Amino acid sequence: MRAWTARTTGAVAASVLVTVAVGPLGSAGAAAPVTAGVARPAEPDVTAVPSNLIIPLQRTALVNGKVKGVTSARPVQLQFSWGRQWIPQGDAMTDVSGGYSLRIPSGKLGTFTYRVAAPATATVPAVASVPFSVSVGEGNPRSYKLFAPAGRWNGCQVIGYRVNLTGAPKGALDDVKIAIANVARASGLRYAYRGTTTVIPGATRAFLSPYPKDTQLVIAWAKPGTTKHLPKASNYVGYGGWLSVARPARLGSTTYYPITQAFVVVDSTRRMPLGFGMGDPEGLQGTWGQLVMHELGHTVGLTHVSDKSQLMYPYLQHRASAWGLGDLGGLYNLGGRFGCFPVASSPKASVSKKYAGLLAPVAGPAAPLAAWMMASQVPDSGGPDAGALSGPHQVSGGDH
Ligand SMILES: [Zn+2]
Repeated sequence: MRAWTARTTGAVAASVLVTVAVGPLGSAGAAAPVTAGVARPAEPDVTAVPSNLIIPLQRTALVNGKVKGVTSARPVQLQFSWGRQWIPQGDAMTDVSGGYSLRIPSGKLGTFTYRVAAPATATVPAVASVPFSVSVGEGNPRSYKLFAPAGRWNGCQVIGYRVNLTGAPKGALDDVKIAIANVARASGLRYAYRGTTTVIPGATRAFLSPYPKDTQLVIAWAKPGTTKHLPKASNYVGYGGWLSVARPARLGSTTYYPITQAFVVVDSTRRMPLGFGMGDPEGLQGTWGQLVMHELGHTVGLTHVSDKSQLMYPYLQHRASAWGLGDLGGLYNLGGRFGCFPVASSPKASVSKKYAGLLAPVAGPAAPLAAWMMASQVPDSGGPDAGALSGPHQVSGGDH
């Protein structure tokens, strides 16, 4: 990402008219996480079908569904997940056959997890739907771009990450963890924090950096000149990317290189506020949180776009850090819901790249992968390629 030193810029208020298609959220075959106090049978007692999984800011969105076994109107409630609690968000009554419609909030940017619950009555127990996640963003949903060639993570793996905090501001680790959580929620990819490290990605000439075995991603604060990713005396403040030494695999209509290793390097000599707020109105724009989120976007396969309302815009900006609609669509499409490498031919994997994020029928990121995805896993998926015929592939994608 590039530094941008400026006076306060005006509000970025591109009001893009977005045509949002409505897709049915069928039963994705996903089991539900255990939820305290609510019976959880294999077939949910409440179905919940959001009109969209990615919603433009302030755009009306609904969740429709049915409470099973209802013979007269019954109260239902939209609830959102907050820590370990479910917080009431809106109430409605079902019709006499259990059908209901509730409005999903769209006034705040971010990814939120909801469920629809019907409280207990004198005669029937409380029931709830499988949780589902909905993201709210700004800008154009088409504003995302993949690297060429494209890389993506094996959706069936857990990405172990470490942080090199040498020279980092105090509190930087919290920002990294929040930024990772923001990627995980929007993409469905799964991450695990493995601790700190002294590794600086790209510090040697080797294609892959010497990561510990449990680590596929390193986020490092480093001085310019100590890594090939951060040249001295430039206006670059960070670099993020991925490396693949695996065979390419097809998913839907695109060929992807399974990501073997990914990295984020940020310039430890810069001075910016921590967090995900607006940042300083004057001087160096942006925050550490914004920078890390942007670079993490590169690590999952997104490259730059010219839409200023997206975090994948290449300059730090004076605005709060939240994924835009394009970022969200890209993260969704590159995310964990589409299964393992290589993926067996399956109509469910063929998703139009442009609108997949708005259409694809999936459950929330908390849900396990559907059975067909697991069935398509092969023993060497995502692993290094022995390269019997053509030698090891060395493919990478990355940008500042
Ligand atoms: Zn960038």
